[in-house]
Amino acid sequence: MRTDTPIPSKHQGRLIHTLYGWYALTREQSDLGPFDTPEKASRALNGHIKVFKGLNSRLPGQPGRMHLHDAAQCSRTNCGLCVEARIVEQSLMVATS
Ligand SMILES: [Zn+2]
Repeated sequence: MRTDTPIPSKHQGRLIHTLYGWYALTREQSDLGPFDTPEKASRALNGHIKVFKGLNSRLPGQPGRMHLHDAAQCSRTNCGLCVEARIVEQSLMVATS
């Protein structure tokens, strides 16, 4: 990973890497991405947090959806976790066929 643009540690748990690129997970309806580098995802997340600060007074901290994501139940419009789940699903199908 390149280190020219340091990624804030509070972003570490919110950036995920998929086959299609990097996603920044948000607490809003849509995740950000895909981006080709984690730095870009981090920068987008920074901008996003600035926009939503004060508008969104839900519990601070982690979005709380980092585990066992169910893509079939997900209603988000651009979801990094769904992308990841779909890739895992496809690679499992490839592995068993
Ligand atoms: Zn999802």
